[in-house]
Amino acid sequence: MKSIQFKIILSILLFVLFIIGLERYQLSKSIRTQFIEFKKSKNELLMNTIIPVISLNLSLGLESANDEYLESIVTQNSDLVYVRLLDNNGNLLYEFESKTLKDIDEIKDFNHCEKSINDTITDASLGVLELQFSNSEYEQMHSTNERIGLQITIISIVLLLLFLLFLKHVFKGLAVLTQSVLEYNPKENNFKLRQSPKKDEVSLIQNAIVEMVNRIAIYAEVLDNTNALLEEKVRQRTLELEESNKELKLLASVDPLTGLYNRRYFTKSSEQILEIVKRNKTALSTIMLDIDNFKNVNDTYGHKCGDDVIVSVATIVNDSIRKSDIACRFGGEEFVVLLPETDIEGAYIIAEKIRKKVEEKRVVIEGGFYINVSVSVGVTEYNLKKDINFESIIHRADRAMYSSKESGKNQTSVHSA
Ligand code: GH3
Ligand code: MG
Ligand code: MG
Repeated sequence: MKSIQFKIILSILLFVLFIIGLERYQLSKSIRTQFIEFKKSKNELLMNTIIPVISLNLSLGLESANDEYLESIVTQNSDLVYVRLLDNNGNLLYEFESKTLKDIDEIKDFNHCEKSINDTITDASLGVLELQFSNSEYEQMHSTNERIGLQITIISIVLLLLFLLFLKHVFKGLAVLTQSVLEYNPKENNFKLRQSPKKDEVSLIQNAIVEMVNRIAIYAEVLDNTNALLEEKVRQRTLELEESNKELKLLASVDPLTGLYNRRYFTKSSEQILEIVKRNKTALSTIMLDIDNFKNVNDTYGHKCGDDVIVSVATIVNDSIRKSDIACRFGGEEFVVLLPETDIEGAYIIAEKIRKKVEEKRVVIEGGFYINVSVSVGVTEYNLKKDINFESIIHRADRAMYSSKESGKNQTSVHSA
């Protein structure tokens, strides 16, 4: 900040110098005026002293006395360079001309005094007296003043020009700094300027900006790292969420005991399958099966054993069908299988296969014992004309299954549409 004080003081000094130059000029002008006034008054004084005497002598005709008198005036006034006395007829009565006087016109303008000698006794004019004074003293004073004033003015103008050049240099630095700030992009970290060893104001601002830019770069790096960490965390969380969603979907569509689809999922997908079948006019069959006398199993061997039986039957069902078929646990010990592109004969074969496998299966229970169970099965097929929705197919399959129950269980009944 020192340089700012220095520049202010320099500016004041320059201004003072400029004022002094102007003041000098004014002074020389006033000296000139004063000098003229002084000469005029001196002229007047001399005139007033000389005229009455000369006019008296002229009127008396004492010309030689005039000469002597005027000589004495000239010797007493060293700055008197030219004196001329003419009578009324234009005859030259007296003339004094200094050796230093070269051109009367040079000084005539400001110290020439020409006066008619009026007789104080009579009104008639007696002649003309001309007086001229040397202006060398004034010239010297005036030229000295003028010279000094001119020198000061020139010096102050030169200094002002230098100061303007210096300011231009300062503003150029400021312009470069401004441009660099405008072009700065924190992402590209492209600030052109570096720390400056100078101590002027622009350099101080530049250093402050460079420092700020460095801090921004550090914060940007920290921010980038934090962002990367955050992105990684979000990515991981998204993966976890996707996994959870998959599990949830599975849980929502699968029966936890058997691993077969649950009734909710089955109903939803069966409606979709029915739409495809309607459009393609392909076959679709349904098998419904229910474990016989299951209550007895629960009552005799316990609920856990009943669960094992349900799982065992579910496994048989699942192993007996194609991948394109959909098996679900429809109720407690009740299962439904949907068989696309399968006619009723084909469905009957599958149903019988399941029934026989269950019949033959020896389900191992706690304590190393095993039990045999059977299933009653109902089979039906989709009828394009009759079945508006899937419920009517299920209803027919149910009726077929109850036919099996009523006919003595462990058998397969068909209920064609
Ligand atoms: P039917 O031959 O006429 O089908 O007779 P049932 O005994 O099999 O039929 P019922 O409807 O009388 O009994 C079904 C039983 O199944 C009743 C219920 O307690 C039992 N049950 C339903 N769901 C489960 C289950 O998830 N686990 C076990 N252990 N038992 C179940
Ligand atoms: Mg039942
Ligand atoms: Mg039953």
